[in-house]
Amino acid sequence: MDKKHLQTLLTTTDYRPPDGFTAFPTAIHHASTVIFKDVAALRARNWQDKNAYTYGLHGTPTTFTLEARLAEIEGGTHCLLAPSGLAAIAMIDLALLSTGDEVLLPDNVYNPNRELGNWLSESFGITARYYDPLIGEGIAELIQSNTRLIWTEAPGSVSMEVPDIPAICRVAKEKNVLVALDNTWAAGLAFRAFDHGVDIVMQALTKYHSGGSDVLMGAVITRAKDLHQKIERAHMRLGMGVSADDTFLVLRGLPTMKLRFEAHDRSAREIATWLKSRSEIAHILHPAFEDCPGHATWKRDFTSAGGLFSVLFDPRFTEAQTDRFIDNLKLFKIGYSWGGANSLAVPYCMAAMRKQWPHQGQLVRLNIGLEDTRDLIADLEQALARLA
Ligand SMILES: *Cc1c(COP(=O)(O)O)cnc(C)c1O
Repeated sequence: MDKKHLQTLLTTTDYRPPDGFTAFPTAIHHASTVIFKDVAALRARNWQDKNAYTYGLHGTPTTFTLEARLAEIEGGTHCLLAPSGLAAIAMIDLALLSTGDEVLLPDNVYNPNRELGNWLSESFGITARYYDPLIGEGIAELIQSNTRLIWTEAPGSVSMEVPDIPAICRVAKEKNVLVALDNTWAAGLAFRAFDHGVDIVMQALTKYHSGGSDVLMGAVITRAKDLHQKIERAHMRLGMGVSADDTFLVLRGLPTMKLRFEAHDRSAREIATWLKSRSEIAHILHPAFEDCPGHATWKRDFTSAGGLFSVLFDPRFTEAQTDRFIDNLKLFKIGYSWGGANSLAVPYCMAAMRKQWPHQGQLVRLNIGLEDTRDLIADLEQALARLA
């Protein structure tokens, strides 16, 4: 078998590059098929074992490296990747809930998580109930014998109430209920979830981890091995694969994430402070500002804030007027998501989204990017000037 024909040479080679290549980036391994040394190796391997490889879907050196790094960053032990933040949320629900169970969700939860809860209620015999995000240890009264999981989000990414996570976790632990946290706003940097009692951390890596507005990916991080194994089973059953190139992009974002987060935070607070002085704005919904429900909890539990906050306009402005304000922005683009370099503005109709909402004025959410704040403020100023 020494002399192979050209077509075979085009498909395979015995060449092996020399060992010992070392560089900073993690290598990008593309694979569906993973090659086994012999049949015994194939038979011996288990897809759950992170020390070996079985099939591209269950992990490559590239995905294992990102998982290990995310677990370290969050202060957890285990991590699983999913093709989006929402897929990570769905994986947690499907791993931990069965027919007859109940899941509790904050009334300000990320809206697709709420829609998922409604779907589980309508089609899967799982009850989703909603609670006041500021409920704290009052959650004890809602927990029933079939309550399995409590979702939390700190803070809610539109209305920005900061929940008392330690209080919720204390009660949940007493009653043997798991607590999952959507920790995307704090990026795993500003809030140390496991130290505050959370069992399961979910991250939309789409936001700060990537930082490029060019990747969709999610992660689930845990400390307890049995919990990890339950979620890993769902990861396998649901076929949650991620692309090697996307994984590389997220790995590439990690070294700058904290610096970017701090820059977003500085700019967002500067812009929120400026907006607070404007008569058109009634409330600043930014956890570092006293207007924001749960501000004292943020001060107690968080170390920083990132670039996302909302403003409530004075009720004298109609929706048509605040829509025009957004249309008139030039540097701020109109679009969902956040955590990237570009500033964004999105209107939200709170009356349609929430069971209870105390405010009259229009809500606009701002993602403050990495542009110079003087230019962002000038942009807001010209659009506010054309509001009336
Ligand atoms: C964006 C986001 C998600 C979902 O992430 P995708 O990758 O877009 O699916 C979940 N939770 C929060 C708070 C988010 O902002």
